[in-house]
Amino acid sequence: MSILLCPCDSGENLKACCGLYLSGKAYPSTATSLLRSRYSAYATGNLTYLHKTWHPDTRPNLRAQDLVTQWTHLQIIRVKPGLKHSVAEFKALYRDGDQKCEVREISLFKLYRKRWVYLQTCADWP
Ligand SMILES: [Zn+2]
Repeated sequence: MSILLCPCDSGENLKACCGLYLSGKAYPSTATSLLRSRYSAYATGNLTYLHKTWHPDTRPNLRAQDLVTQWTHLQIIRVKPGLKHSVAEFKALYRDGDQKCEVREISLFKLYRKRWVYLQTCADWP
């Protein structure tokens, strides 16, 4: 059996990290683990998981062709945890041909039916 490192850059085995969430065996208990697992879902093209972890009010109709980006690294910059809302700023790196690119984003997560879901991007740190 081969050990596959988790795409979220935790240094853990995928099965013991985001794999637990991506397979539906567990649900992330914090906004940070939700962010990590959603990044892993983007990296592995897991549409079902992205759909499930997106707030229904803001959830787009994602298709497989929306997930072609080759994500290479995730770096969480800061997190502001809350009881009902949490905010996280992160940098995600990807490859575009020979070029290394990055996106930096502030994400807002909301507790919805007792589970953390992604709500939207924020323009500024709160
Ligand atoms: Zn992970």
